[in-house]
Amino acid sequence: MRIAREENLVVIAQGGNTSNVEGATPSPGWPDDLNRRTVVLQTARMNRILAIDPVNNTAHVEAGVVLAKLAEAAKEADRLFPLSFAAEGSAQMGGVLATNAGGVHVLRYGNTRALTLGLKVVLADGRVLDLTRSLRKDNAGYDLKQLFIGSEGTLGIITEAVVKLEPRPQSRTVLWLTLADLKAVEGLFTALEREAGPTLTAFELIGRSPLVSAITVRGFTPPTDPADWQVLAEISHMRADDADAANERLTDMLGELMDAGLITDGAVSQSEDQADALWAIREGIPGAVKRQGGNVKHDVSVPRSRMVEVIERTTAALRAAVPMSEPSIFGHYGDGNLHFNVGAVAGSLTKAIFAFEDEIHRIVHDHVLAAGGSIAAEHGVGAMKTLELERTKDPVELDLMRTVKRALDPEGRLNPGRVVRTEGF
Ligand SMILES: Cc1cc2nc3c(=O)[nH]c(=O)nc-3n(C[C@H](O)[C@H](O)[C@H](O)COP(=O)(O)OP(=O)(O)OC[C@H]3O[C@@H](n4cnc5c(N)ncnc54)[C@H](O)[C@@H]3O)c2cc1C
Repeated sequence: MRIAREENLVVIAQGGNTSNVEGATPSPGWPDDLNRRTVVLQTARMNRILAIDPVNNTAHVEAGVVLAKLAEAAKEADRLFPLSFAAEGSAQMGGVLATNAGGVHVLRYGNTRALTLGLKVVLADGRVLDLTRSLRKDNAGYDLKQLFIGSEGTLGIITEAVVKLEPRPQSRTVLWLTLADLKAVEGLFTALEREAGPTLTAFELIGRSPLVSAITVRGFTPPTDPADWQVLAEISHMRADDADAANERLTDMLGELMDAGLITDGAVSQSEDQADALWAIREGIPGAVKRQGGNVKHDVSVPRSRMVEVIERTTAALRAAVPMSEPSIFGHYGDGNLHFNVGAVAGSLTKAIFAFEDEIHRIVHDHVLAAGGSIAAEHGVGAMKTLELERTKDPVELDLMRTVKRALDPEGRLNPGRVVRTEGF
C-alpha cells in the first residue's frame, strides 16, 4: 500500500473472487487511465493457519486461508468453525470478512461479524493496524475492527483475523418438509424452534422453481415431490447417540405437523449420508440457477414476521408490472434472508427478462424496504448496488458512510466506486 501511494495506484483486494456483486475485479466500464493504474491484490498465498487455541476456542488465520480449510482444521481439533455456504471451497477468509458472509448457520451462530474477535489490517496509507486480540470482552474504546468487517475492500486490506470456534456437534438430523402453503412456514418454524431450541441450526425455505432447476440441471432427487414451498431444517446433536432418539421423536412429529395442517409430506434423515444428500440439493441450487441463466437477482432481508407478506405482495406486483416474470425464491428463512431471483415464465425467451431489469429491481427493493428490510443481506453492495444504495439509503446514514470512507481512504485508493462513491468517482 505504501508503494501504491507512491505510484498513485488503485488497489482491489481479491480472495477467492466468488463475489456475487462485482466486488473483487475492475468493472468493465472503467476508463483506460484507471484500468492502467489498478492492481488486483491476490491473497491466496497468505494461507497459513497461525494458531488454533482449543482452550480459548479461537483460530488465528491469514487472509488467504480458504474457508473450507479452516473448517477442516477446526474439525481436526474437535471444534466447529460454523460458517458454511456453497462457495466455501473457494472463498478466502479475507473475502469472507470483507463481505461479512452469512451462510446456512447464521440462525444459531451469527454471521462473520459475530464470529470475529480480532483483525490485522493494512490501511490505505500503508500503516498496519494490529487488532489481533482474542478477547470476548474488550470495551477499551471504539471497536475499530467492526469498520473493516463488511467493508468490501474499501477501507483497508485485511491480512489476518482471530475468529471464534464452537464446540463441535457430533451428529445432526436434517428434515425435508413440503409446506401446505407459504403461510405455514411461520407455524412450522415456531414448532421446530420450540422442539429444538438452540439446537435448530438451519432453516431454509425453497420455492418450486429453484428446486426444479436443481433437479433439471443437477439431477437431484428430493425425497418428496416438489411442492410450491419446501423447507430444509437441521437440528444438531452434541452427542452421536442423541441422533437416534431425536430421529424417532422428529418422525413422530411429522404426523403432528400434518395434523396441524402445516406440512403435506416430509422426510427425516436417518444417517449422515442422508443428511449430506439433502444438503447437497440445497447447496446445488445457486449453481443450478446460475447455469440456467436469465435471472434478475436480489439478496434481501426482512424481519421474519414480514417475510410471507413480502413474498406474496412482491410476486403480485411483479406479475402485474412484468407479466412474463417468474420469481425463483430460496434462502435462509431462519435469518429473514431471501434470494429473490426473477426469471422469465416458461415459453418466453430466457434473456428477455433483462429488458425489465431496472423495473424489477425497483419493485423488489421497494417492497423489501417498505417492510423494514435491507437490499443487501449477505452478498454485499460491490459495484452492482452502489446506485441502488444511493437511491434507498437514509441520507444521514449515507453521509456518515462517506465520512468514514474519506477518513480512512482520502485519496480513493481502495476499491473505488464500490459500496459508497465519493467525489471524483
Ligand atoms: C455459489 C455461492 C454461494 C454463496 N452463498 C452464500 C451464502 O449462503 N451466504 C453468504 O453470506 N454468502 C454467500 N456467498 C457469497 C460469499 O460469501 C462471498 O462471495 C465470499 O465470502 C467472498 O469471499 P472471496 O474470498 O471469494 O472474496 P472475493 O470475491 O475475492 O472478494 C469479495 C470482496 O471482498 C474484498 N476483499 C477480498 N479479500 C479482501 C481482503 N483481504 N481485505 C479486504 N477486502 C477484501 C474484495 O475487494 C471484494 O470487495 C455465496 C457465493 C457463491 C458464489
